[in-house]
Amino acid sequence: MRAADTIAAVATAPGAGGVGIVRVSGAQAGTIAQVLLGRTPRPRHAHYTTLREADGALLDRGLLLWFPAPHSYTGEDVLELHAHGSPILLDLLLRRVCALGARPARAGEFSERAYLNGKLDLMQAEAIAELIAAGSDAAVRAAQRALAGVFSARVGELQALLTRARAHIEAALDFPDEDLELMADPALLATLAELRAQVGVVLLEAQRGVRLAQGLSVVLIGRPNTGKSSLLNALAGEDRAIVTAVPGTTRDVLRVDLQFDGVRLELADTAGLRDAGDAIEREGMRRAEAALLSADLALLVSDVAHWTDDYADARARAPDTDMLVVLNKIDLIAQPAARIEDVAGPVRIALSARSGSGIDLLRHELHRRAGGGADNAYSARTRHVLALQRAAAEIDAANLEVQHAVNRHGGLAELAAEALRRAQQALDELTGAHGSEELLGAIFSSFCIGK
Ligand code: GDP
Repeated sequence: MRAADTIAAVATAPGAGGVGIVRVSGAQAGTIAQVLLGRTPRPRHAHYTTLREADGALLDRGLLLWFPAPHSYTGEDVLELHAHGSPILLDLLLRRVCALGARPARAGEFSERAYLNGKLDLMQAEAIAELIAAGSDAAVRAAQRALAGVFSARVGELQALLTRARAHIEAALDFPDEDLELMADPALLATLAELRAQVGVVLLEAQRGVRLAQGLSVVLIGRPNTGKSSLLNALAGEDRAIVTAVPGTTRDVLRVDLQFDGVRLELADTAGLRDAGDAIEREGMRRAEAALLSADLALLVSDVAHWTDDYADARARAPDTDMLVVLNKIDLIAQPAARIEDVAGPVRIALSARSGSGIDLLRHELHRRAGGGADNAYSARTRHVLALQRAAAEIDAANLEVQHAVNRHGGLAELAAEALRRAQQALDELTGAHGSEELLGAIFSSFCIGK
């Protein structure tokens, strides 16, 4: 066990009322428990007891729980005091345990110790932060799956495949006479192909996990008067945006948080992306463009007659933003609601924000894109997606060398081995197998105190 000193913190959310918990972890936790209880506590037993100041003054009556190492959250000796949820009282209790040999814990320090003592890997520890921050039902369930190790297990499968490929290539390095044969072995190519395919699958799952955890940010764009605000209202199901027929009234970016069927969307209604206008309008446009570039998805609101032009314009402004075209006001042209998908163009949804016809098609599409509807989804972070993308690129590089060997165009085992070593590093960063101090600091400092 690495950490020797004893840490303590109030481990309940402020304003929780009812019960407050002071959590203590480390070598002194046992002594502190003995002093407070007046005898040796029973492991994993709730003692209802009187908690007193050093001079014997009554602090509170509450529960004392004792979890000796290693069967505790941190893997160290852990003491928990459950008292009334008064912040002042809890602070007095915290001071009392600190006077008995603990020190105030830093943010995330309990989870960091759990990680350092092998109770959780890094992704599981991060899942705890996601669970606490979860903004939707689906986000809670996804964080629970990551915490249960579903994501870690997926990465474990990738690591096993990668190890197999690395062993093969290392053999090619060890036997220089046979290196070409070993590199050109179809079994190696097959392993690499499977590995690359699996990394692709996990990457998609992780991207969905990020969306689930963070919510999908959607920006409404389109010319003035196309019905963006009306659409926002139709989706939100209530009048949160002001709907008017005067062009260009939505000057600022209005954001609405929406939850439906367990997923979370952050919808931003922008000013129309049109040129000219006064200073306020230009500022509105600048904000609209910024919102467009940072969104996960742009909903381009247009109509059947103008959408190709509008789409070309939006694409030119934001080449990399995912886009969905809404063909609004179908009530005026007596067209049925429809989801249109063809090979070349973007997905289009023909609907009427006014009559509500086709809104369910749009909701369904947004729900799917927000990561909804997947029973096995787990929460993930951008850092995971980036690491998986790096692993994928390195595996591609190794694959290229092996392809060259198969085609008798050279193909260097050294280069393939090096690329796979870097792929391994990327995967190890996920689970924290070789977590650097910096990485750990960045991750755990974002936790709350007491977690
Ligand atoms: P925005 O400028 O893009 O936000 O557009 P608004 O939502 O303010 O709508 C502009 C005008 O179009 C308003 O008069 C709306 O009532 C009208 N409108 C919006 N959606 C529809 C629709 O589906 N059908 C019809 N007929 N009118 C609509």
